[in-house]
Amino acid sequence: RNFRDRMNHMEVLNPGAKLPLGLRRSPHRILVTGGAGFVGSHLVDKLIERGDSVIVLDNFFTGRKSNVKHHLGNPQFELIRHDVVEPILLEVDQIYHLACPASPVHYKHTPVKTIKTNVMGTLNMLGLAKRVGARFLLTSTSEVYGDPFEHPQRETYWGHVNPIGVRSCYDEGKRTAETLTMDYHRGANVEVRIARIFNTYGPRMCIDDGRVVSNFVAQALRRQPLTVYGDGKQTRSFQYVSDLVEGLVQLMESEHIGPFNLGNPSEFTMLELANVVKEVIDPQAKIEFKENTADDPHKRKPDITKAKNLLHWEPKITLEKGLPLMVEDFRQRIFEDPMGL
Ligand code: NAD
Ligand code: UDP
Ligand code: UDP
Repeated sequence: RNFRDRMNHMEVLNPGAKLPLGLRRSPHRILVTGGAGFVGSHLVDKLIERGDSVIVLDNFFTGRKSNVKHHLGNPQFELIRHDVVEPILLEVDQIYHLACPASPVHYKHTPVKTIKTNVMGTLNMLGLAKRVGARFLLTSTSEVYGDPFEHPQRETYWGHVNPIGVRSCYDEGKRTAETLTMDYHRGANVEVRIARIFNTYGPRMCIDDGRVVSNFVAQALRRQPLTVYGDGKQTRSFQYVSDLVEGLVQLMESEHIGPFNLGNPSEFTMLELANVVKEVIDPQAKIEFKENTADDPHKRKPDITKAKNLLHWEPKITLEKGLPLMVEDFRQRIFEDPMGL
């Protein structure tokens, strides 16, 4: 890498550091698909803050304009209502491709649309990347590992996925999206990056999207029992959204294709998670057991050795520290701004 590239990289890793004027990198034009969603909107905040221009493409299926409203009117920011299943012509330097519903409740509700988004949407964004020579980052998922036989999961594990189950639109969809990404890289020389994201939580999550952290937090705030599915012994590992955004940007700016696991390796059973939520919000909260959903993976925990070694990235925010940051946002939206849900 040349000197200027190294300086650019330093600036990305440490945006506060003031480089000599002549060495500051020129701003990028960055496309964020799904940028009005939970993760996307936090990513947009970071990119705008560091001086880049951002175009958000979103069809508002699970995202909300209010997630990015603080950027409306900023000349660095543009919001386009568009469905990525349809082609589009734009000129950009980088594409963060996030568009896709992430909550099982949402994607099971519209399975065919979900798989079209994953396959045709990803194809269109790769076609765009090829035409304009942009670098493309796919947000894939830990679900590509299915109900895993390897624990914790490394990137070399090929997964154990049901191709005909109710989750397949999402996990097989993302597996196909990874395949397309690698085929555009090998066949058309598109510069690509693949992140496999593990369960992430934080402010701006959809309140009623059925995911476990948002459910427990909303239930505890509304003084309802916390619904634990099955026996509650299944495990997940929860990553705070700012850690994920750091990882995505570091991966995009790195020289590595991936795939990289981006997640927090601290593993919790759903009962343990319920207890942390009780401690933070309401120690009197009750737990109610409900029947579990089909194909629910028993355990999931990332091995992040690869990201630590090659990207020098690891999550910093523990569940005990991150949960209160999300609770304030949920409290405000549930009690003070119910129409803004
Ligand atoms: P989200 O549902 O909040 O955001 C997805 C965004 O994509 C929404 O704004 C939605 O309106 C938009 N979208 C959906 N279909 C679209 C389409 N056809 N055209 C245009 N826009 C469309 O979800 P999120 O949690 O922010 O997830 C973002 C990405 O990260 C997704 O690709 C998801 O698969 C991946 N991911 C998230 C998690 C997690 O725990 N949050 C875990 C693994 C992977
Ligand atoms: N595409 C797009 N914007 C672009 C370039 C391509 O939406 O700027 C779409 C295009 O319509 C096609 C897909 O991306 O459906 C794949 O494009 P590619 O050029 O790789 O394939 P082809 O058009 O030759 O099938
Ligand atoms: N879950 C739960 N109570 C809820 C919602 C989910 O116990 O109210 C469980 C669910 O069965 C799964 C885990 O929490 O084992 C994580 O579910 P989520 O939908 O958040 O994400 P997944 O990792 O399954 O995509």
